[in-house]
Amino acid sequence: MTQTDIINRIKQLKAEKNAIILAHYYTRPEVQDVADYLGDSLGLSREAGKTDARIIVFCGVHFMAETASIISPDKKVLIPALHAGCSLAEGVTGYDLKCWKEKNPDGLIVSYVNTTAEVKAYTDYCCTSSNALKVVESLPKDKKILFVPDKNLGNYIRKVTGREMEIWDGNCCVHNPIDAEMILAKLEEYPEADVLIHPESSCSHDDRVLHHPRAFMYSTAGIIKHAATSPKRQFIIATELETIHELQKQNPGKEFIPIHPKAYCGQMKKVTLEGVLEALEKEQHEVRVPEDLRRRALLPIQRMMEIG
Ligand code: SF4
Repeated sequence: MTQTDIINRIKQLKAEKNAIILAHYYTRPEVQDVADYLGDSLGLSREAGKTDARIIVFCGVHFMAETASIISPDKKVLIPALHAGCSLAEGVTGYDLKCWKEKNPDGLIVSYVNTTAEVKAYTDYCCTSSNALKVVESLPKDKKILFVPDKNLGNYIRKVTGREMEIWDGNCCVHNPIDAEMILAKLEEYPEADVLIHPESSCSHDDRVLHHPRAFMYSTAGIIKHAATSPKRQFIIATELETIHELQKQNPGKEFIPIHPKAYCGQMKKVTLEGVLEALEKEQHEVRVPEDLRRRALLPIQRMMEIG
């Protein structure tokens, strides 16, 4: 089958089966191009909650499909790459949070959405990189916060909000290597460019970056918005490099320079066009969360959605 045949068949099956394809910005360009909705974690969660489709084909890693199923239990959520995992989500367990909560009964657990359903079930509030500051700022000032699992996003939030926080020692293997030296060297190499940085990067709380006039910290959706609205023509992109596919599509006259050729999430690339087609044809691999766990995991997501 040629790529065009595969795409046509995907479109046909989507219509026949009342399916929708949601894809993350970090998936392969050809997968992004067949998606009905392309987004970051927050945008995809919102879309999963409001679709009328019977089937959601979730092009992303496992915790994302699980989150979609928690939000939309009446939908059949399919993941084309069953074993697409995430170093962040795998870095903390529900048991870890249970122990922490026992030691800190008055504390509040804020979990990044990049976590398993089991971890969400022990969480007070979820957040994404788009709304993490807003979520933490909305919490009572006298409460200590345990932030899991990304230490770089946690350190960034602590620095900006000044809140008392314990921060889990997890990291994203794609963003963590993006350090201040790398950012400063690229800014010197491209003196006209802005650098747009995802806060999972280890430079997220370095003053040399935070106070640099051409450095900006954003979620992936924020990076895309900045590039579209800025009068600048050149941008250094300090996040997963497949984001450049959408940036270039939206802004054909602008230049996007990847921070490093290895800022590449191999787990996201496990989702292929062939996998999407097979998922639709066989209605595989369904992701479903046991109902009592789902109800507990939904609560912190709902609290997050209410905050914004
Ligand atoms: S980029 Fe990082 S946080 Fe995102 S899925 Fe890959 S490993 Fe997980």
